[in-house]
Amino acid sequence: MSTPQKLRLAIVGGGIGGLTLAVALSHLNLDEFLQVDIYESAFKLNQVGAGIGVLARAMEIVEDLGMAGDFEPLMTPVESPLGAQSPGSRFYFRKSDERNGFPFFDMIMPGGSAMCHRADLQAILLSHVSSFIKCHLNRRLVNYKESKEGIELEFKNGETASCDILVGADGINSVVRKVFLANKQGLDSSSEEAAMNSAPVWSGISVYRGLIDSEVIRRELPNHTALSSPTLYCGKNKHIVAFPISQGKIINIVPFVTDLEKEGSRLHGPATEEANLQDFAHFYAGWEDEAQCLIKNMSNVSRWAIQTVKPLDTHSTDRVFLLGDAAHAMTPHLGSGAGQAIEDAYVFANLLDKLLRQGSRDIQRISNAYTAIRRPIARSFVDASRDQGIRLEFNAPEFDDIKEGDAIAPERLRELGKSLEKGFELPRKCSVRDDLQRALDML
Ligand SMILES: Cc1cc2nc3c(=O)[nH]c(=O)nc-3n(C[C@H](O)[C@H](O)[C@H](O)COP(=O)(O)OP(=O)(O)OC[C@H]3O[C@@H](n4cnc5c(N)ncnc54)[C@H](O)[C@@H]3O)c2cc1C
Repeated sequence: MSTPQKLRLAIVGGGIGGLTLAVALSHLNLDEFLQVDIYESAFKLNQVGAGIGVLARAMEIVEDLGMAGDFEPLMTPVESPLGAQSPGSRFYFRKSDERNGFPFFDMIMPGGSAMCHRADLQAILLSHVSSFIKCHLNRRLVNYKESKEGIELEFKNGETASCDILVGADGINSVVRKVFLANKQGLDSSSEEAAMNSAPVWSGISVYRGLIDSEVIRRELPNHTALSSPTLYCGKNKHIVAFPISQGKIINIVPFVTDLEKEGSRLHGPATEEANLQDFAHFYAGWEDEAQCLIKNMSNVSRWAIQTVKPLDTHSTDRVFLLGDAAHAMTPHLGSGAGQAIEDAYVFANLLDKLLRQGSRDIQRISNAYTAIRRPIARSFVDASRDQGIRLEFNAPEFDDIKEGDAIAPERLRELGKSLEKGFELPRKCSVRDDLQRALDML
């Protein structure tokens, strides 16, 4: 009896989502059934020089994929009343848009979380990818065409490749999403209309991303909160996120500036660019010393306009799947965009595993389960992340009377802290393993 040909799976994009999918397929030993190719536009697999938080739900997957041991040395120990088992899980909120800033809430995040350098996360993922998965660099997808025989991928360098299943893990400006939506709407994928329908929208937020050597901060303010704990420095329409990474040697710092009137508009100008201190330091003039110390010591800063993807009716067809930012790019206020990409990858890989081991190749069945389970969860993160940003920057309706630098009564700040804590329940309140089980039960 002849063995059936392997299914050809193409993953477009070798970011956190695409690489997690490669790890999950490796972990499930699917080489017997699958030929897997990753097509990445960059010349080298790279991550922006910044930190990333991997929260409780994604940490379950890290464990299930056998990577927990690799994460341990990267987790930055922070002072925590819960003890050493809960590194990275205490967050301080400060009222910072006045000269005498002060802490107003101390949040414990049970369930564990890792705050690490993106490059370290990428290195771990790569070390868990089996050799049966081939990675092709310098392959920028520009279009794909579906026929009865399969899918033909077209790259910018003129090369083509074919596959039976396509996973678009190509980030916020996903070409796979553009063609996917154009096909569903009967549009020419190269038309202006197709590009407009798929284009992300601006959230009104700009962030300035940078890393600082902790010693620089320690010399200036030895008791600086961000040296030991993730801290959110809050002000009206602005905040700064700072947390230690690389075992405390580096501080990841991200100042945010929000113009809510621009939310939902098209971005004019570049989504990312180099930035100088004079472009943004003035936004924090008058803020407390801890905040100013972070800002003035930032170097090699890049400005990112935070964009989001408009809600999609579905994340998959019978052969094409959207994963991570390609499907549901969100604001970073819950630190969960990458976590959601990781969840997509984990659920998709396990669904495919079950289907193939049942001896079936009916990909439509996976598609139904994937969208049914993953779409509402990802949307709940998109919405909750937006709400969290509104609260963080004193823009919830009950703070309508507040202007930058205004004093706010401690009781109101305490209530705000509690609502921020509640907002952070989503990444930890239910298990991603239960969601996976629900998806598997649908097959
Ligand atoms: C300031 C900030 C802070 C954040 N903090 C956190 C956090 O703490 N925790 C968290 O979970 N998330 C965080 N996020 C969100 C997180 O970075 C993203 O959600 C995550 O990187 C999405 O992963 P992805 O694999 O879907 O996309 P990406 O990481 O964007 O990867 C897409 C890949 O596809 C490649 N690609 C693009 N187009 C093509 C093409 N046409 N052909 C081939 N390849 C292509 C790209 O080169 C890239 O390698 C943050 C985001 C920002 C902006």
